[in-house]
Amino acid sequence: MWLLYESRGCGYLCEGDIDLEVSKKPKIITLKGHSIELQRKHVKNINLAVYPATGRIRVSVPERMDEEHVVKFLESKLGWIRRQLAKTKPKIPISYESGSTHQLEGKSYILNLMPDASSNRIRLHETHIDLYLQVGRSSEHVPKMMKEWCRARLKARVQPLMSKWQRVLGVEVSSWNVKQMKTKWGSCNTRDKRIWLSLELAKKSDEYLEYVIVHELVHLLERGHNAHFYALLDQYLPDWRQRKALSAFGQQ
Ligand SMILES: [Zn+2]
Repeated sequence: MWLLYESRGCGYLCEGDIDLEVSKKPKIITLKGHSIELQRKHVKNINLAVYPATGRIRVSVPERMDEEHVVKFLESKLGWIRRQLAKTKPKIPISYESGSTHQLEGKSYILNLMPDASSNRIRLHETHIDLYLQVGRSSEHVPKMMKEWCRARLKARVQPLMSKWQRVLGVEVSSWNVKQMKTKWGSCNTRDKRIWLSLELAKKSDEYLEYVIVHELVHLLERGHNAHFYALLDQYLPDWRQRKALSAFGQQ
């Protein structure tokens, strides 16, 4: 929830290329029970952001602005901050009941729970996912089974794309892996040449997955989101804009 937002390229996608700023540890201002991260930056305005999902509050201010002024500003915005925080809703857990809908690889599937099976397993069909639960297994196991199954499928899709694009771009990663990431599709640590991909990508089509992989790998050629970076994307993946438009984080 941004009040004022300073736009920096497509920063939602990566962490790797904002290392420079992360290295400047934010100072914490405590105000009426709220902890607010203060970051001094090369900016003209005060930028205040509240992230309702995590309760994080961040303010970035011009490098030389005195703290008293910042505190006065924050005090004047306290009502707004509290209203944003009040909007915080706990994330609705995805239902794993029979008949629930699940996104997988760019499509929607209906989940069917098949209890009392001889073994735990999951089968994918044209329109539905059959999840077989072993005799005596409670449905509590379903979310974990689904998550592990999605993770394995995603990794199997990523593997050939990683190989292909490392070859095409002439880069080499030291490792890549999949993990749950709250706000990003992927990140690239350009120093260690390590790439993380969000487990959420299991829901996305091959076109989108490939775009994220190419984006992260291009960071091994160009760290920042600058003209050179986008020129490389244009060169290697000319339709990257259409692919990117396929999805915003958290949407299906
Ligand atoms: Zn990036």
